[in-house]
Amino acid sequence: MNINEKDIAQLVQAVLEEMNGKAPAKKTASAGDIPKTAKVAMLTSLEHFDIKEYPMPEVGDDDVLVRVEGCGVCGTDAHEYKRDPFSLIPVALGHEGTGEIVKMGKNVKVDSAGKPLNVGDKVVTCMIFKDNPDITMFDLNKQNVGGADVYGLLPDDDVHLNGWFADYILVKGGSTIFNVSDLDLESRILIEPCAVLIHAVERAKTTDILRFNSRVVVQGCGPIGLICIAVLRTMGIENIVAVDGNEQRLEFAKKMGATKTVNFMNHKGVEALADAVKDAFGGYYADFAFQCTGSPVAHANIYKFIRNGGGLCELGFFINGGDAQINPHFDLCSKEITLVGSWVYTLRDYATTFDFLKRAQGIGLPIKDLITHKYALEDINEALEVNLAQKGLKIAYVRKDLL
Ligand SMILES: [Zn+2]
Repeated sequence: MNINEKDIAQLVQAVLEEMNGKAPAKKTASAGDIPKTAKVAMLTSLEHFDIKEYPMPEVGDDDVLVRVEGCGVCGTDAHEYKRDPFSLIPVALGHEGTGEIVKMGKNVKVDSAGKPLNVGDKVVTCMIFKDNPDITMFDLNKQNVGGADVYGLLPDDDVHLNGWFADYILVKGGSTIFNVSDLDLESRILIEPCAVLIHAVERAKTTDILRFNSRVVVQGCGPIGLICIAVLRTMGIENIVAVDGNEQRLEFAKKMGATKTVNFMNHKGVEALADAVKDAFGGYYADFAFQCTGSPVAHANIYKFIRNGGGLCELGFFINGGDAQINPHFDLCSKEITLVGSWVYTLRDYATTFDFLKRAQGIGLPIKDLITHKYALEDINEALEVNLAQKGLKIAYVRKDLL
């Protein structure tokens, strides 16, 4: 299948028109008073942000100036905060951001999906290749990376406003930008992690094993696993068993649509755990499994939950988590398991995610409750500490007057 940017534009527009059935939210033009300076939370040393103030930049003919409303704290931000693996310090972090257009260059007319852009519109950027909607962004060997798009992971420059942990961001011409005015603030903050699951489920569908009536096990109930359950529910999959070691997270999994839960703390050894999963499905192993933890042991265990001829999508290892030990004969070959890996998302998945978020709210899933902690820009150090301490689910920076 081949899809180009124009197709995506048509696709997104058609979906939005269908979903809305009404005009998008009223725009509030707030371009009137743009301050002379902007604040940026600059990571100036390991585990330390300074709030810096810079002159408001010139907005070029192709640029968009956005007043930031909020930005999710991602695992990548936490890695950078703790260890600076990309050697970016000083850096303005934050890539899961959203805000309102306050000024645009005269050449800017539409977003990356072809939807009109105006002052007052709510937007997100996307760290992804613009040129090929079907590949994931980090695949540096396959294509030229659209470096200017990776707002929140760029080296500091003389404009400084290139990360979303700030009160303004300058989105330069040629960057990927989407008009998401018809989504509320929380949904917009959650677009990026949700896109990861849209991609994972697309990968899972390539196995041709996932069906409406499939028995699906989701292992790991952090934000990724919980969103996985939500995506499956919006697809009409009803028979979902969630596995985790934390009772609170398992409770949330139920609210998100899991039929049954299994707390692995209550079962000694993988055989007992597999039996518990089987019991939860009423005496059957899973047709399909999503592995959403970063634990090699969890990867090794999950094969035992899957029936012969079943499928597995492994998406827990965003970064290297070490080696997992499986028995290729018993776990893979003799069971004829179809295994797919999933990483990040494509531009096409990003556009699909806007639609998913509306559908999830439409069927009453508590997606917005995933954001458990909100912090003002001044408290960004605390936000990162809370993220590192793995308290709560999704941590976000939210502009003070919107908290
Ligand atoms: Zn992220």
